Amino acid sequence: MSEVEHGHRPNADLTDFFDAELGMLCIRDTDGFFRRVNPAFQTVLGYAEEELLQQPIRSFMHTEDVTRTEAILAGLAPGSSAPTFEDRWRCADGSWKTLAWSASRSEDGEYVYAIARDVTAARKAEADLRRAMEVSEEANTAKSEFLANMSHEIRTPMNGIIGMTELTLDTNLTDQQREYLEMVQSSAGALLDIINSILDFSKIEAGKLELDRIDFTLWETVTGALKPLALTGRNKGVELLYDEGPDVPERLRGDPGRLRQALINLVGNAVKFTESGFVRLTVHRVRSTGDRIRLRFEVADTGIGIPPEKLEHIFGSFNQVDGSMTRRFGGTGLGLAITAGIVDMMGGEIAVQSEVGHGSIFAFEADFDHALQPPPRASQPTAELEGLRVLAVDDHEANRRILAEFTRRMGMRAESASSGQEALEVIAQAQEDGDPIQLALLDCHMPGMGGFEVAERIREDPRHENMLMVAFTAAGQPGDGARCEELGISSYLLKPLAPVELRDALLLTLEKGPVSDARGQLVTRHSLREARLALNVLLAEDNRVNQRLAVHILERFGHTVHIARTGQEAIDAVEHEHFDVILMDIQMPEVDGIEATRQIRAREDGSERRVPIVAMTAHAMVGDRERFIEAGMDDYLSKPISRDRLREVLRGVGRGGTPTLPAQIPEAESDEWVDGETFSTDRLLEQADGDMELVRTLVEVFDDDRPGLLREIEDALDASDAEALERAAHTIKGALGVFAAEPARRRAERLEHMARDRRVEACRQQYPALKRAVLGLHAALHDFVGRGG
Ligand code: ADP
Repeated sequence: MSEVEHGHRPNADLTDFFDAELGMLCIRDTDGFFRRVNPAFQTVLGYAEEELLQQPIRSFMHTEDVTRTEAILAGLAPGSSAPTFEDRWRCADGSWKTLAWSASRSEDGEYVYAIARDVTAARKAEADLRRAMEVSEEANTAKSEFLANMSHEIRTPMNGIIGMTELTLDTNLTDQQREYLEMVQSSAGALLDIINSILDFSKIEAGKLELDRIDFTLWETVTGALKPLALTGRNKGVELLYDEGPDVPERLRGDPGRLRQALINLVGNAVKFTESGFVRLTVHRVRSTGDRIRLRFEVADTGIGIPPEKLEHIFGSFNQVDGSMTRRFGGTGLGLAITAGIVDMMGGEIAVQSEVGHGSIFAFEADFDHALQPPPRASQPTAELEGLRVLAVDDHEANRRILAEFTRRMGMRAESASSGQEALEVIAQAQEDGDPIQLALLDCHMPGMGGFEVAERIREDPRHENMLMVAFTAAGQPGDGARCEELGISSYLLKPLAPVELRDALLLTLEKGPVSDARGQLVTRHSLREARLALNVLLAEDNRVNQRLAVHILERFGHTVHIARTGQEAIDAVEHEHFDVILMDIQMPEVDGIEATRQIRAREDGSERRVPIVAMTAHAMVGDRERFIEAGMDDYLSKPISRDRLREVLRGVGRGGTPTLPAQIPEAESDEWVDGETFSTDRLLEQADGDMELVRTLVEVFDDDRPGLLREIEDALDASDAEALERAAHTIKGALGVFAAEPARRRAERLEHMARDRRVEACRQQYPALKRAVLGLHAALHDFVGRGG
């Protein structure tokens, strides 16, 4: 560029080019003036060339942009070019234009050669678009928020329709009425499903989805989601498999409901879009850091697959691969969008791989916390299973491998066979080798010889008399139970199984021995649940003797018990932990059981969760049932607690049912009491299940508490505080009830009633008799435990 340097006109070619170029070309000097501009400048900005050359460049620029542009140019070393930048220029008519620049400095550093394009229209279009998107997003969020807020309003009448339809179906109807109503019922159910999907999706979009943080048992959540789908799969010949890594924890803290929902969506789709082959859910631990555990869930199927062009958008809302498929399979196209939203909230991301005609793999990772409560039977020794020789018989290769792997992890010696015929051969060979198969795991449905037939053949041979057999099925048939017992099959279980479930079933099977010696003791999903039935129970009870008794019984049943001594403690506990059931004493200091229940229900409102609450009270009164229902209680236990009744209530809860209050709350019985007896030894022993150790503990607890309880009454009498008196009398009454000390209990009850009627004077006269009775009981109890019962 020596011509420029020396002030000469550049050569003609270059001038022609400079003048003809539609882009804005310029040369500027170090003083901040243009040395040369081309005609495009005038076209874009409207200034004559002279004007541009005479004024400093910065005077044409937007003041806000000057510093940045100058800095970019100042930083430009000789011979180098700057990345594209933009600034705003004032036109001759006062309007503004945005120019996008490329610039480079000459080798000697004296000049900047630059070229600009007018990008005003493009920038405006972008800004308009951005604004339009913002407006539409705002509208969309408003819509989602509206829906999320409406969820209660929409669900309530739907539940009304469904509930009333159910009730009407229970009445006398003509066949035609019944048929129509059943159609109403199934349509309403389908509508509710769709509404729930839309509401969930809106919640996610509006950022209103909140995850629970509660302790839960992972494999229960997983298999709970899988088993119903296994049945659907089995009906169309699709095998549902569950595989679990060895280091996946049993208990976690997180949101089991939403995890289940995500899994049901993925596995449900996989089953829906697979005509033959299998669907496999695999869970692995990715890593554990201090307080978090990251798991990977993978759902693989051998179904129709998804075309590549659809894969990209598959997690968007209302997306279905093929409209005609939708008519065939149903669905809203929201399942994957909801799942992706849930996974996102769990700190993971969902991904898919698929090949048309070969199947799909959906996978996601999610973070959980460690459970606060360890698993109820984590330390269960499996010494009983150690070294046992087991044969897994299944036609499905992956299933065989999984079963063998699970049993090996439990220390068993595992082998497998792919057909009934092969199984019989392995069994015969093992017998010959003098190392017989001790346990056979049989798939009921196999081509050729099914599990029952294999069992029949095994039983025909007296040499296999001691072999234990466990049968698996994805779909139970009526009469299967009887068939198992007939064939001497010890356990009959639903596929797919989690390792812990299999372990518990095998332990129970071993414990019970071959069915031939223990008829009617088939281990099934139900007996397993009952055997395990380890519930997390919250016991809200202020009376220590009652507490001790209840805890003892509950722990005997295998449950985990947490104690709250007041209603407030119960409310707080529920905030922080998931309980399967709450046993709620009605009369507690400060916040009573009714109020605590009300508050717990109020907090549950709007969530899917509803923990069963069982009222406990010693002497129910008229109108109590209504009070319990109004507060939101589900069932009722009279105190002192009867273990049979307690077991019955908890079994209901364990089976996943919601308990219901009995139609009538029975008046507490008190007639078994033999006049003159300080306490009923029979009833006491019955309460304690004949356990003298427990009786001793109860007596000790009462020894500790008794002076305090009596002092409370005395203090209340001194202060003439009827309310405190009523409470203290009630508390000691509860303890006396546990010992079946009817005379003393009645005295306490009388005192309580008098205090309730504010007859403090009468209480003062009544009290010495109560005290005598209590001290008399103390002596009698010690006499009893001293004699050893
Ligand atoms: P829908 O309620 O319609 O099933 P989803 O969001 O769950 O909605 O799924 C969206 C679409 O993705 C489905 O309609 C189907 O076309 C496709 N899809 C999902 N999972 C699979 C799968 N495992 N195999 C094949 N196609 C699938």
